[in-house]
Amino acid sequence: SKAKLFDQNTEVKTSFKDVAGLEGAKEEVQEIVDFLKNPEKYTSLGGKIPKGALLVGPPGTGKTLLAKAVAGEAKVPFFSLSGSDFVEMFVGVGASRVRDLFKQAKEKSPAIIFIDEIDAIGRARGKNAMSGSNDERENTLNQLLTEMDGFGTNTNVIVIAATNRADILDKALMRAGRFDRQIFVDLPDVRERKEIFEVHLRPLKKADGLDIDFLSKQTPGFSGADIANVCNEAALIAARQGKKAVDKQDFLDAVDRIVGGLEKKNKIIT
Ligand code: ATP
Repeated sequence: SKAKLFDQNTEVKTSFKDVAGLEGAKEEVQEIVDFLKNPEKYTSLGGKIPKGALLVGPPGTGKTLLAKAVAGEAKVPFFSLSGSDFVEMFVGVGASRVRDLFKQAKEKSPAIIFIDEIDAIGRARGKNAMSGSNDERENTLNQLLTEMDGFGTNTNVIVIAATNRADILDKALMRAGRFDRQIFVDLPDVRERKEIFEVHLRPLKKADGLDIDFLSKQTPGFSGADIANVCNEAALIAARQGKKAVDKQDFLDAVDRIVGGLEKKNKIIT
């Protein structure tokens, strides 16, 4: 059987409402939404619409969510793949997969292409040049650069990539006309954690008087993904005990569990 080349979602339901906090990043990507919805407005004076933006930030902070929300807000299809999928690929497959991805997106344009973990293909070239897999990675990267350079001014496909290692990326990726915009997506502060809790508490049956400020203060260093995890875990802990609602103790137990998991992953909690 043929492996799936990439994901394609033509009816994205995610919107900016689903993305808590990240005000600055949302403002910046709002512009991409406008470019997709109303390209003529921007090109009428001879300007060129940007082709790419790079979301930079720690794991689980909502980069994928934000990229999806751009597609949802602009009502355009979302094509996505992950750089890490390329790591064990046979010679020639990576480049042809990139070619296919861009071909499909152009056919469905306006569209968003999202490349998660771009560092897996976009690491600076020229290191370990002897290893075969590295050659393959370079072919894939070169194909990506070729595709982005080949976009006509009226293609209206915007490529959003995400990484937590912008420092190791090949500088060629950041050149004008490629990923020349960097948008920072940071870990949430206490106020943003509260907003993220509010999003993920929505589907839960909460005990009366559950103190969201308290939960936000108990979770320094947690990413949005960690908070989503806490909420889900708390609901399961409460249900396991036959409770009718999720209470403060369930959340504290869930936080303990997640902290335990994080410590195993060697993440630092401040
Ligand atoms: P990675 O770098 O690991 O791919 P990411 O930055 O792309 O992570 P997402 O995959 O977008 O992170 O986040 C995972 C999940 O965490 C989301 O689907 C969502 O449930 C939750 N989440 C993360 N950030 C936020 C946020 N700002 N608001 C609401 N939910 C969030």
